[in-house]
Amino acid sequence: MTATILILGDGTGGLVAANLLAKEAARRNAALQIKLIGQSPMHTYQPGLLFLPFQKPGYRGLSDIQRENAQFVGPGVEYLLERISAVDPHSRTVTTAQGSYSYDWLVLALGCRTVLDDVEGLDEHWGKRAFGFYTPDSALRLAQALQEFKGGELLIDVADMPIKCPVAPIEFACLMDEYLIERGLRSKTNLTLVTPLTGAFTKPICNEMLTGMLAGKNVNVVPNASLATVTDKAIACPDGKEIPFDLLVTIPPHEGSALIDDAGLGDGIGFGLTDKQTLKALKAERIFLLGDNTNVPTSKAGSVAHFQAEVVVHNLLREIDGKPALPLADGHANCFIETGFGKAILIDFNYDIQPVPGKFPLPLLGPMSLLKETRINHLGKLAFKPIYWKMLLPGHNIPLVGSRMSTSGKRMEVLQQH
Ligand SMILES: Cc1cc2nc3c(=O)[nH]c(=O)nc-3n(C[C@H](O)[C@H](O)[C@H](O)COP(=O)(O)OP(=O)(O)OC[C@H]3O[C@@H](n4cnc5c(N)ncnc54)[C@H](O)[C@@H]3O)c2cc1C
Repeated sequence: MTATILILGDGTGGLVAANLLAKEAARRNAALQIKLIGQSPMHTYQPGLLFLPFQKPGYRGLSDIQRENAQFVGPGVEYLLERISAVDPHSRTVTTAQGSYSYDWLVLALGCRTVLDDVEGLDEHWGKRAFGFYTPDSALRLAQALQEFKGGELLIDVADMPIKCPVAPIEFACLMDEYLIERGLRSKTNLTLVTPLTGAFTKPICNEMLTGMLAGKNVNVVPNASLATVTDKAIACPDGKEIPFDLLVTIPPHEGSALIDDAGLGDGIGFGLTDKQTLKALKAERIFLLGDNTNVPTSKAGSVAHFQAEVVVHNLLREIDGKPALPLADGHANCFIETGFGKAILIDFNYDIQPVPGKFPLPLLGPMSLLKETRINHLGKLAFKPIYWKMLLPGHNIPLVGSRMSTSGKRMEVLQQH
């Protein structure tokens, strides 16, 4: 009998999962009907949003970071460009603006989104006094605002956690420092990162390094400060502390998908309750989740969505064969952190092992270095864009980088000292 698999969401995770599943089904001669449903005719390479405000070469307009989604849908996958309006785990159906579809297994890869009206005043001042870079429109608007900036108090504010790519605000601070130096405005600007975290980042060794790096660039870090209110000249935290600004760059609060909560699968803000090892939904059978719409304790990153897609495909095929899903997901995340002036740091970690120094992907040889600012890491960050379009989305293997984190090349002894 042919099993019908619906994959919801046509972003990074949905496309990778659909393409990997179709390839694996063809290899095994398994009879599967795979439908990918999503609403985005254009696919945004989201890591490119970081560079757009600074108009870096290769990142000047949307055509530099967007491609038509349909071109990445491989053989064996039917792509339905439709807005999904409901998921019903009891009747195993998904409803869209165009119709209704039954499934035998469902994969949720609906991502997450920034929400302005969770913070008083943010919506009102958005695009006028408060700017962002987490969506294509806001990143382009910020590029204009930066052209007009003449110095003063520049705040980069993380409203609340969780957010996509938790290192992006740190990268943004570094690129802002570079931008201001190049424009002769750095000595006229106080650059401050305001964050709800206890430091620049969460993992202790990495946090220490990144906080020190930002201090070296004279970027002030205000920790333990989430965002309650935005006015036209200051932000306020829940305890009433006010911080004035001349230019505000905000990473607004994030929510998952209301579809997930409405289906009884979520945590109340749209993140699906997910078994962190099997990636199965905790509240219904025959549903897997991957990418930003899960509630698993790792970074919301494209690399994570890719690694999780491999696990979901493996476990889904096991369930179709009547076998239980295996606890294969380890929270593996691999992130380049752009630090300005042509350098970057690379971190590689999972649920249990925080980032440590070392070499990646090959022990001794690298060529990338972990927890160290290098030129090669920066070139790796730039190379990720063609790799994303040509290898990752079409579901090709990325050599030497597996879905589970390897400790090979990592200086694990550093963990004993912390
Ligand atoms: C500024 C920035 C920098 C980043 N940098 C990096 C980086 O350097 N490295 C890295 O690994 N990651 C990075 N990320 C994060 C990465 O882009 C995301 O984690 C990744 O795209 C998550 O994939 P996903 O499939 O879960 O969600 P998405 O790629 O967001 O896809 C979700 C899809 O679901 C669709 N959808 C949602 N609701 C519906 C509906 N009702 N009907 C139909 N379709 C729907 C959406 O249209 C979208 O296509 C960055 C993100 C940002 C914002």
